[in-house]
Amino acid sequence: MSIKVFNVVKDYSRQRALEGVSFEVQSGNVVGFLGPNGAGKSTMMKIITGFIPQTSGIVEVNGVNVENQEVDIRKEIGYLPENNPLYTDMYVKEYLRFVANIYNLGKSTDKRISELISITGIGYEQNKKIGSLSKGYRQRVGLAQALIHNPSVLILDEPTSGLDPNQILEIRKLIKSIGQEKTVLLSTHIMQEVQAICQKIIIINKGKVVADGATEDIIARSKGKGSNILVEFVETLDEQIFFKIKEISAVANMGDNTWLLSTNNKDDIRPIIFRFAVENDLTLVAMQQKGKQLEEIFQSLTK
Ligand code: ADP
Repeated sequence: MSIKVFNVVKDYSRQRALEGVSFEVQSGNVVGFLGPNGAGKSTMMKIITGFIPQTSGIVEVNGVNVENQEVDIRKEIGYLPENNPLYTDMYVKEYLRFVANIYNLGKSTDKRISELISITGIGYEQNKKIGSLSKGYRQRVGLAQALIHNPSVLILDEPTSGLDPNQILEIRKLIKSIGQEKTVLLSTHIMQEVQAICQKIIIINKGKVVADGATEDIIARSKGKGSNILVEFVETLDEQIFFKIKEISAVANMGDNTWLLSTNNKDDIRPIIFRFAVENDLTLVAMQQKGKQLEEIFQSLTK
């Protein structure tokens, strides 16, 4: 279960949308594919799924060249396109049957439809018309159609866009659980989404890859230059007391007994602050590391 992209270029009539994109995605990962609008995410995803051809370069899914029509690699790929186009006049089950027939699921069709209705939690909606469903449920139907042929690789183009906060959490949970068994590449604008579900990220900007690595590593690397720690004590303190901690370079009061402590130290200094509180008989009631967030990293890479 893998996706390999080598030096892919895509020209639309007048415009170069991808300029030599290369990356690899291995199995059992949920990989966030990030980039500002127009960066080329949808274009890359359509090429991986075989919907449109690249101008040059190679894409392999599970070791098979996607352009090689002799092996139907599309059976290995599930795709939820941007805006999740569905036939709104069809009933949920009817639609899933329609998709199952495209993949020739034959005798196993009914069983597979039942399984997916259960996995995606659309039991109560299964006999409704797609047009009458809420956006969150339509998204689940979209995921069900992408999974119906049990593909090993799943390409999801902005799967939570337009959903309300509760729906977003549920769809994320679903994607996370699907990601344990499959290779998932998902595009999104939402950085918390990436931090919540993606082990790896690939950031593209203007058709080029600008970052590729484990989410934790990318955050840690740019955090190397220090961090801020938000602390709250029961006691009312004077700011000078914090300078007893040699790792602290700046102190700001955030109201009442809450303080923002800055350090240039690249290590986590929370244990040091904790020991300081104990040694000085202070009651520490909250402590939160405010490192550089992915949001900032994304902005600096895609300016
Ligand atoms: P993203 O998904 O990151 O927003 P897209 O892949 O949709 O980016 O688009 C990348 C660039 O290619 C954009 O500048 C867009 O206008 C252009 N583009 C996308 N699809 C087409 C198309 N069918 N014809 C011409 N240009 C296109």
